[in-house]
Amino acid sequence: MSKAIVSSLYDSDVFKMACRQFDQAADAISLPEEIRDRTKYPRRCLAVALPIKRDDGTVTVFEGYRVQHNLSTGPAKGGIRFHQDVTIGEVAALSMWMSWKCSLAGLPYGGAKGGVIVDPRQLSESELERLSRRYMQEIAPFIGPHVDVPAPDVGTNEKIMGWMMDTYSNHLGRNEPACVTGKPISLGGSQGRREATGAGVAYLVKRYLEDLNIPVAGATVAIQGFGNVGGETALALAGYGAKIIAISDYTTGIHNARGIDVKKALAFLQSQKVLRDFDGGEAITNEQLLGLDCTVLVPAALERVITAEIAAGLRCRVLAEAANGPTTFSADKILEQRGDIEVIPDVLCNAGGVIVSYFEWLQNLQNFYWDRDEVLQKLFVILDRAKSSVEYQKRKFKFSRRLAALTLGIQRVAEAKQSRGLFP
Ligand code: NAD
Repeated sequence: MSKAIVSSLYDSDVFKMACRQFDQAADAISLPEEIRDRTKYPRRCLAVALPIKRDDGTVTVFEGYRVQHNLSTGPAKGGIRFHQDVTIGEVAALSMWMSWKCSLAGLPYGGAKGGVIVDPRQLSESELERLSRRYMQEIAPFIGPHVDVPAPDVGTNEKIMGWMMDTYSNHLGRNEPACVTGKPISLGGSQGRREATGAGVAYLVKRYLEDLNIPVAGATVAIQGFGNVGGETALALAGYGAKIIAISDYTTGIHNARGIDVKKALAFLQSQKVLRDFDGGEAITNEQLLGLDCTVLVPAALERVITAEIAAGLRCRVLAEAANGPTTFSADKILEQRGDIEVIPDVLCNAGGVIVSYFEWLQNLQNFYWDRDEVLQKLFVILDRAKSSVEYQKRKFKFSRRLAALTLGIQRVAEAKQSRGLFP
């Protein structure tokens, strides 16, 4: 048996974590050796230098990446992250998780992810536009509606997707809305896409609470990260009657045992950009938030925040992973040993975003647009189906819920690769 030549390109803690998850899942389903490395490692990546003229006339060169993990099950799909701590290893890990997520949800997509090393808050609006356009210009030959379709992630949003769609369309010489998803509605974005990830997280939390016979009305919820996903999760869960007792961003946490007024917090954020000084509760640290006594804890910021130490001290009944990769491998072992916390793993929990991105892409390709109710109804059908298959796999093989979700996702990608064979 030949061993893979593994490059050090992606070497990082988060990539190692994604690989360990893969190895554990591959062992659990006895994935044949000859298909393992092909399924595990990213197919290809692109690194780009992005020279941007600053408002003061100087030039700064940023660095960006696009990693396509798998193209065997359809065009690759995955967000673009703008954050100062982006590394190519992180982008590669996120691209792997996109492959398993799309596969678990039964979407005709492979997995990808992109990133630029930049703190977008340090750029003016026009600098951000130039960076977004330049990044798209550089990756344009590498992506496309039938190759790889980007979307928003941490630090990017609808407006940025609009600039990117415009840049790609200009590059092509015609309108091509299907080149990215998460666009403004006026440019072919889908009804319901902005809230899709959070709405999906909230829906699954509601369904799992039903399974546990815990009424969602009155359940207490703590959410780390109050961006697109955290904010929409809070709104949707509050809409179901849950009490949001804590929220946070990178500047502070806010705790209020009587319940936070989510709309007021969102309005504050809109005007002040950060939660610091929000008077809807008392200030706490992000670490204190994770340890709060609550029904549901929702990490919705970055990966690897729930370490072994934090896992041992968690006081929630349900851990709903809205963020990608929030729980480290060793923390996962502790949660399994404890057995008192229901984990809704990331590849299932936050799949609402890519599912509605798929709807957006379909609507763009067909030039036929759906209303919001239709979008959300179809979203919940797919989430229910994915949840049922995870629960079946979990029961059948006595797996943890994460292992059940990962094995389902990985199996389909591996089967597609095996059926397609090697070229030539
Ligand atoms: P966002 O940029 O809109 O929000 C990120 C939030 O996290 C902000 O409130 C930010 O202040 C906070 N944050 C950043 N660093 C933090 C830290 N060190 N401690 C505490 N809070 C911190 O990003 P988003 O789109 O909401 O993405 C959040 C998570 O959800 C990411 O893991 C992303 O990969 C995942 N996700 C996003 C989507 C999507 O559709 N946007 C879909 C699936 C998964």
